[in-house]
Amino acid sequence: MLTPEEARSRLLRAVHPVAGTETLRLDAALGRFTAQDLKAPISLPPFPSSAMDGYAVRTQDPEFSKAGPYRMKVVAHSYAGRPWRGVLSRGAVRIFTGAVVPEGADSIVVQEEVRIQDDLIEFTKRPVPMRHIRSVGDDVHAGDLLLPEGTRLRAFELGWLAACGFEKLRVRSRPRVGIFATGDELREPSEALEFGQIYESNRVSLRSLAHELPVITQNLGILPDNPRTLREVLCAEAKAHDALITSGGVSVGETDHVRDVVSELGSLDFWKVAIKPGKPFAVGHIGDCLFMGLPGNPVSAMVTFLLFGAPAFIRMAGGTVQAPLECDATLAEAVRCPQGRVEFQRGRYEQRPDGLRVAPTGAQGSNRIASFHGANCLIRLAPGDAPLKAGSRVPILPFNSLLKGGD
Ligand code: AMP
Ligand code: MG
Repeated sequence: MLTPEEARSRLLRAVHPVAGTETLRLDAALGRFTAQDLKAPISLPPFPSSAMDGYAVRTQDPEFSKAGPYRMKVVAHSYAGRPWRGVLSRGAVRIFTGAVVPEGADSIVVQEEVRIQDDLIEFTKRPVPMRHIRSVGDDVHAGDLLLPEGTRLRAFELGWLAACGFEKLRVRSRPRVGIFATGDELREPSEALEFGQIYESNRVSLRSLAHELPVITQNLGILPDNPRTLREVLCAEAKAHDALITSGGVSVGETDHVRDVVSELGSLDFWKVAIKPGKPFAVGHIGDCLFMGLPGNPVSAMVTFLLFGAPAFIRMAGGTVQAPLECDATLAEAVRCPQGRVEFQRGRYEQRPDGLRVAPTGAQGSNRIASFHGANCLIRLAPGDAPLKAGSRVPILPFNSLLKGGD
């Protein structure tokens, strides 16, 4: 059986960014990945700019050849967006933050240090060259590589691109992901339950988790535990999607046909990971389409999606995946350790004055969706014999980091 780390790296090796790209306006590009290197078309700032409200002066002004206090005439005004186009030879230019520092001026005297007397200003400190002046390219030089291909566009990157004058940019297309449930017992919420049937819940959870990723999901319905139907539908939908996810039918039961069908239609890359919950997780390909078979138990389906589905989709969307963020937290209560495989319990962490504290969210059976209620992280428990006492340190994986590929 693969360790979770082995499964993750085998999966990521088997996954490639989708080929398609599209051109989007900046305000539609949040969360996408750049499909090309982006170079700065202009420098920032594009002109020498004042960092303060005050007075632009020339440090070579004859007034500064003696000891202070200094008195100068205000000869012009330079406002943000309304520059003074003259050349300063003597005196001071009233200037505001973000305004062009006029030619000839090489220092800003901040207004708090200045007294105004009639049409003169007076100050005592001798100005220092380049004080409070942002020179051209101080932030970015024209031609600099701003963002390499494969950068995730977050609020910061988008603002940076806007500052450089980008209106649109090329990003990777979103992978098309089809999501199935499988199981003869599963019914839609609109249907009445007969004895032995349950409501299907994985599709809405998985699509909602995927909503935070740059993918387009399609709800492909509930499939029966019937190999012929599975074969027909998976074969057809694999042609229309970059990835297919099923839940259920990948374990060792008599009605678990999904793996055999995927092997017939394509290939199974691996099956089974030494984790609890989520052991029967399967990965394969049907033609070029990635297949991920998640276990049917709702908790197992969501845990395997967080650990494996999310990074695979980030990679497919054009991103680079980091190892998931793990932080150490103090256990609020004692927990039993798993036997033989790593357990990912659902937990809730919170920041306390003395550090992070985490508590498991109730009973942890893989059928218990309730264990996700209020949870904001997975608690990673290594196999062991002795229970972990309250106060022990354990690694936790926050959900929001898992859904961002460790970013
Ligand atoms: P399986 O992996 O098909 O053996 O399913 C394991 C357990 O999860 C069974 O109790 C199923 O009834 C249940 N299950 C499977 N798929 C779903 C689903 N989509 N929604 C809710 N429960 C499910
Ligand atoms: Mg089943």
